[in-house]
Amino acid sequence: MSDRLQRYRSKRTGKSGEPAGKVTRAAKKRGNRFVIQKHDARRLHYDFRLEVDGTLRSWAVPKGPSTDPREKRLAVAVEDHPLDYIDFEGTIGEGNYGAGTVIVWDRGTYSNLDDSRDMAASIEAGHVKFRLEGEKLRGGWTLQRTHGGAKPQWLLIKRRDADADARRNPESTQAESVQSGRTLEEIAAEEDS
Ligand code: MN
Repeated sequence: MSDRLQRYRSKRTGKSGEPAGKVTRAAKKRGNRFVIQKHDARRLHYDFRLEVDGTLRSWAVPKGPSTDPREKRLAVAVEDHPLDYIDFEGTIGEGNYGAGTVIVWDRGTYSNLDDSRDMAASIEAGHVKFRLEGEKLRGGWTLQRTHGGAKPQWLLIKRRDADADARRNPESTQAESVQSGRTLEEIAAEEDS
């Protein structure tokens, strides 16, 4: 297997407080977790990560996911993250790549809705259909690649099903971490004091 975490390591000095970019033997077991981390970096965004073949395939979603199927949310593919990033919450210090505060905004498991190919093949093909079982987000979702290149652009779209809801706005009504119950602002304030 090629080292999918090389880009992760190359952007980090090891002093950021984030997990080291190592693929452990345990990580190579096939898992199906997902996490969405809210990240108050230079620009606020949500990092959407799916566990696929021992790493976290990752997309930065500036506006966060919408439960309204009519809302297509830009999702920029970014470097894979190590599996132990899945519960990373805290502040990445100034001077480090991605400096700013991170919370675990949602997490759970996913299932592949495409019986014809596995997740890695779907990502490669630029069209991924999956179901989320998170604490905030559930139901079917699509990731559709729209532009290739060095930073491929995708759209993250809620599929039309019983969990679709045009009026729900979990980014504002459920802003807290599912891990610590704290908001970004509360964590940032604690680290400052
Ligand atoms: Mn980020």
